Amino acid sequence: MINKENKYDEYIADINIKHNIQKNISPSILKIAKYWFENHTPDLDDMYLNFDWIDAMKVCWNCGKETKYIQRCHIIPKALGGSNIDPSNFVLLCDTCHREAPNINNSNCMWDWIKSNKLPISIQGTYRFQKGLIEFENKYKINIITIIIELCDGNYSKENVEKLLAKYTNMCSQHLTTITSSTYFYIAELMFKDYNKKTKKI
Ligand SMILES: [Zn+2]
Repeated sequence: MINKENKYDEYIADINIKHNIQKNISPSILKIAKYWFENHTPDLDDMYLNFDWIDAMKVCWNCGKETKYIQRCHIIPKALGGSNIDPSNFVLLCDTCHREAPNINNSNCMWDWIKSNKLPISIQGTYRFQKGLIEFENKYKINIITIIIELCDGNYSKENVEKLLAKYTNMCSQHLTTITSSTYFYIAELMFKDYNKKTKKI
């Protein structure tokens, strides 16, 4: 009898553990994208971001680049008490941006950070499918936005960014209409060299 009761308790405990584990599984990428697509406030309209909400499942919400390896990033980190199950506590980021994202116990910080990285030019139109930039960021583990902002002395107005990009793309102006991914990689590398010189990292 005692054995049976013990077995039953064990069984219930086991069910509870499984149930809690189940409950603790983070929401799917689809669930997170759907939640924010449907519930984002007007201050998170496409025009304040580097991506269109319609592409929310396939692009990084910070830099706007398309990636096959989109990651779920906690808005309030789990270690600081953030929910691991509520889709409203997640954004979708690429690997590079995930590592640069704020880890702060304040849900406004993540969106403030994302909005502060909005570039005045359409990153989707310029870079979206450029394999070269993805390869560059994978190799150097730095976001191209960080580099652009630094090279514009923090003043990344439309004019400044266009001027900056023109400086580098002019180096391959002969083939401007057909910039290949390897050319983009090279352009990003040149920008990174100048960034390193400027920030005295080399
Ligand atoms: Zn990103």
